[in-house]
Amino acid sequence: MEGKLNISAVLSTYYSIDKPTISKMEGYDSINFKVSFNSIHFVLKVYPNSENHLEWVQAEDSILENLSAQNLNCSKVIPTSDGAFQVIEEDYIYRLLSFVEGHFLSEVTHTDKLLLSFGSFLGTMDTSLKNQSNLTIKAKETAWDLKYFQKSWMYLSDITDSRDRNLVSYFCLQFTEHVVPLQYELRQCILHNDANDWNILVDNEEITGIIDFGDMCHSWLINELAIALTYVLMDKENPLRIAEQVISAYHGKIPLEQQELDILYYLIAARLCTSVLNSAHSKKLKPESDYITISEKPAWALLKKWIVINPIKAKNSFRKVCGFAEEIPENLEDQLIHRKKNTSGSLSLSYKKPIQMQGAAFQFMYDANGNTFLDAYNNIMQVGHCHPKVVQAGQKAMAKLNTNTRYIYNEFLTYTDKLLAKFPQPLNKVFLVNSGSAASDLAIRIAKTHTQRKKVMVMEHGYHGNTQNGIEISHYKYHHKGGEGKPEHILEAELPKFFNSGFTTEEEASQHFVNLAKKQIDKHPNEIAAFIAEPIVGCGGQVPLSKGYLKQMYSLIRDQGGICISDEVQVGFGRLGSHFWGFEMHDVLPDIVVLGKPMGNGHPIGAVITTEALADSFNNGMEFFSSFGGNPVSCAIGEAVLDVMEEDGLQQHAQQVGTYLKEKLKNLQADFPELADIRGSGLFLRIEILDLDGNPNTMLAAYLKNELRLKHILISTDGPFDNVLKIKPPLYFNENNADQLLHEMNVILKKHKKN
Ligand code: PMP
Repeated sequence: MEGKLNISAVLSTYYSIDKPTISKMEGYDSINFKVSFNSIHFVLKVYPNSENHLEWVQAEDSILENLSAQNLNCSKVIPTSDGAFQVIEEDYIYRLLSFVEGHFLSEVTHTDKLLLSFGSFLGTMDTSLKNQSNLTIKAKETAWDLKYFQKSWMYLSDITDSRDRNLVSYFCLQFTEHVVPLQYELRQCILHNDANDWNILVDNEEITGIIDFGDMCHSWLINELAIALTYVLMDKENPLRIAEQVISAYHGKIPLEQQELDILYYLIAARLCTSVLNSAHSKKLKPESDYITISEKPAWALLKKWIVINPIKAKNSFRKVCGFAEEIPENLEDQLIHRKKNTSGSLSLSYKKPIQMQGAAFQFMYDANGNTFLDAYNNIMQVGHCHPKVVQAGQKAMAKLNTNTRYIYNEFLTYTDKLLAKFPQPLNKVFLVNSGSAASDLAIRIAKTHTQRKKVMVMEHGYHGNTQNGIEISHYKYHHKGGEGKPEHILEAELPKFFNSGFTTEEEASQHFVNLAKKQIDKHPNEIAAFIAEPIVGCGGQVPLSKGYLKQMYSLIRDQGGICISDEVQVGFGRLGSHFWGFEMHDVLPDIVVLGKPMGNGHPIGAVITTEALADSFNNGMEFFSSFGGNPVSCAIGEAVLDVMEEDGLQQHAQQVGTYLKEKLKNLQADFPELADIRGSGLFLRIEILDLDGNPNTMLAAYLKNELRLKHILISTDGPFDNVLKIKPPLYFNENNADQLLHEMNVILKKHKKN
C-alpha cells in the first residue's frame, strides 16, 4: 500500500514543500508521516479514499479549526496552496497538520501540579467541544465509545485465560447494572475520547497540547474523564489519589454531576476492559503486532488492582473532591436493633463489630464503609463471589422458565447428567433439594426406608443440618448449649483425630477409634440404618478422619446391613485440590453422598446422590417432591458452577495455591509454635492453635481472627474449643492473596508475642 503513495509529489504540488525529511509515525486509522521542512515540522496523514473517510476528515478538520480558534493547543490543519484542507488523489486522501511539540504525558513524572493541569486542560477543551455540533461525529458508533462498550463484548472469547476473561466479564456485568440504567440521562457532547498519555503533551509540569482527534465521538461527557483517568492511573500505587487531582481540576472547569461521578468507577473499568478486549482480538488476528497491544499489560494490572477497590470508596472519593455528600452507611446500632426486632437472637453474627456488607467480587468483599475484605473462609462462594458465569446462568434461566420437577425441561437433564458424571458407579441417582440440611435429612430418610431401621451412627463433633433430623444426627448441636443431648436412636463414634492422639501412626489411631466404634455397633446388632460422617469433620475443627478409618468403618456398618453416608457439604466440589470428593481421599465408596454449600455458589442447592437400589427402595409409593429442588434456575446455576470449576481450572488452582499456602504456614509455625497443627489439603486448610503447654488456645485464635478482620481479612474459627482457624476461601484466592494473609498473620503474631 505504501508503494503506491507519492508523498513527495503531493507535498511539493499542493503545499510547495520540496525535499523535506520524511519519517513514518505510528498510526491506527491513517498512515502517518512526520514531515520536516525548513526546521518546521508537520504531520501528513493519509487515509483510504472513501466517502466515509472524507466525511470524517472534514468533521475532524472543522472541530480542530474551532478548537484552535479558542487557543487550545492542538494540531492545526494546513491548507493547500488553493486553500483546501484535503488533497484527494486516486486511492488516497492526504491531509497536512501542524506538529504539536512537547513531551508526552507518558514520558514524564505525574506531579500533582501536572495532574491538576491535566484536569483543567481537559475541562477547557470540553467546554469548547460542548458547544460544537457535527452530524458526522454524532452518527459515529465506535467500540471505543464507552456508550457502545457492549460492542467489544463479542471479543470476550478471545481472552484466552479464563480467569482473566471472567474478570472482564464481571465488569461487563457491573456496567449493565450501574451504567446502562442511566444511559439516557447522562449529559452528552462531542468528546476527544482518547486523552491517553501518548496523546497529551507536556512542558514544565503543564499540559501544553493534545493530538489525535481520530477517536472523537458524541457521547457521555463523563467518558472524557474516564478515558483520560484510565491511562494516567496505570502503574500508580494509589490510583484514587491520582484520580482525585484530575477530577477536581476538571470539575473546576465543567462542574460534574453526582450521577456522573457515581458511575466513573465502572466507566474506568469499562475502558480498561475495552482495551484488553480489543488487544485480545487484535492479538488473535495479528499475533505479530505489538503497537495495538502496547497498553495491554498495564491495563490488566490496573484492572486487577481496580477490583480490589471497593466501588463505594471510589464513589465517595470522587464525590468528596467535587463537594458532594458522601454515601454513608446506615447506623450499625440501628440496624442491629432492627434485626433483633425482626428475628431471633439465635441468628449469630461474625465479629465483635459486625460487618455491613454491600457487595463482592470473586475473593473480595466490599463493606458499606468503603473497605475491601479479602475473603479467606467463605467456602459457599466456591468459584468466587458474583462469578459472572454463575450470575448470568441464573439471570438467563430466571428470565426463561422457573417451574418444578413435575414437568420436563432440559436444565434438569443436562445438570443431573453432569453432576452424576462426577461420581463413580454405582452412585447414579440424584435427588435435588435446597440446602445441605434438606439433603442430610433426606439421606437419613432414604437409609431408614431402605433398611427399615431407625438407628444412626454419627461422628463426634459432626454437623449435618438444621432440620429436626439434622439436629438429631449432629453431635455438634445436640451435645452443646441448648441441645437436648444424644437422642435415643443415635450411636456416637469418637472423632478419629490423629493430631495429639498419642499414636505414632495414623493407622494405629484409626484402629483404636474403629475398635471403640465397633464396641458401640456390637451393642446394637443389625439395628443401625446408617453411619454418617464428613471425610474431614468441619465443625470439629476441620479434622481429617485418620487414614484407613473410614474404610474399616464402612465395612463394619455394611457387615451389619447399614448404609454409609458421606457428608460432602463442606469438602466437596474440588476444593481439596487432590480430589473432587472427600470420600475419594479415603479410598471408600459411600452408598449416599450429601451435597450443599458450594454446589450453587451461594444459590440454595443441595443434593443427595445414591445408588439405584436405594433409590428404588425409596420409591415406595410416597411421592418425593420439593417445590424448589431441581427447578430450572437452580439447575442452570449448578451446571454453571460445574462448568466454571472445569473452565477456570479451579481444582488444580486450589491444589497449587493450597500447597503454597500450607508450606508457607509451616514456615510461620517455626517462629510461632502456637500454630500447633497445620492440616488440610487444597484450599481447605486449618490451623489448630495451642498454648505452649499443648492446651487449646481459644484466646489466641479469637485474637488472630479479630486482628485479621481489622486488617480486612476474613477468617473464621471452629472446633470444640473454637481454637482452629479455618481457611477455605473462594477458589479465585491466589498466591498474592496467600502472601497478604501470611504477612498479616506474621505481624499479628509478632505483636501478640511482644505484649
Ligand atoms: N453438613 C455439613 C457438613 C455442614 O457444614 C452444613 C452447614 N454448615 C450442613 C450439612 C447444612 O447445610 P445448610 O446450611 O445448607 O443447610
